[in-house]
Amino acid sequence: MFKEIKILAVHGRQYIKNLRTQPVAELFRGKPFISEEITGEEIAMACKICPSAAIDCTTGSIDLGRCVFCKECAFLLPGKIKFENDYRIAVNRREDLVIKPGSTNSVRLYEGIIRKDIRKLYRNGLKLRQVSAGGDNSCEMELAATGNVNFDVGRYGIEFVASPRHADGIVITGPVSENMAEALEICYDAIPEPRIIVLAGTDAISGGIFDGNNTLDRRFIDEHHIDLYVPGNPCHPLTFINGVMDILAL
Ligand code: SF4
Repeated sequence: MFKEIKILAVHGRQYIKNLRTQPVAELFRGKPFISEEITGEEIAMACKICPSAAIDCTTGSIDLGRCVFCKECAFLLPGKIKFENDYRIAVNRREDLVIKPGSTNSVRLYEGIIRKDIRKLYRNGLKLRQVSAGGDNSCEMELAATGNVNFDVGRYGIEFVASPRHADGIVITGPVSENMAEALEICYDAIPEPRIIVLAGTDAISGGIFDGNNTLDRRFIDEHHIDLYVPGNPCHPLTFINGVMDILAL
């Protein structure tokens, strides 16, 4: 008994008390800032080295739905592009993932289109089924981490479940390979209404570096309403958690 108490005293509190305000390392790559003074020549240089065509070669905007957060553009133009460590970058409108030069606005969900039925029904417990649709296991690992002793998102009733029949929504990772397209559709069809769709990670949002590859079949993404876009490559557990908490108004 005393041994256990001693272990508890040594370990201290392991869970993150406030998942909304928890600071992360300075080096974490979250929301980018692009200087308004970036020149056309600099935009062209950054555009050329970007591996996922995330930089608009005309305006210099960065699309977080395409960005793989390699930071090469910031290394190239340290005075003009920097990545802040703000991890709260999940949105519910695809266009809100595009960060324009000079923008200092926070990246947040647009309250006006959050589904009220979802908020009302699932505020006390949201069960999610995760489908890795050609994923590389990086986003999958970060999503699994949301339930560990540190993040412990289960304290809000948010959990991943083994069967779509027990789920209230689907979380998709990976660029959606051709051979996962049908399985994804079947899994979604098995979830009772009302249900939500979350895209976790750059690959799921845009295809990432695989965009345009003929082994992908992204019709499911194109044909359904998406409730939450969680950028990152992979997405940080806190980005996912805060996005879901915003949907549920927790
Ligand atoms: S950090 Fe994003 S925008 Fe910059 S070069 Fe890498 S993928 Fe492109």
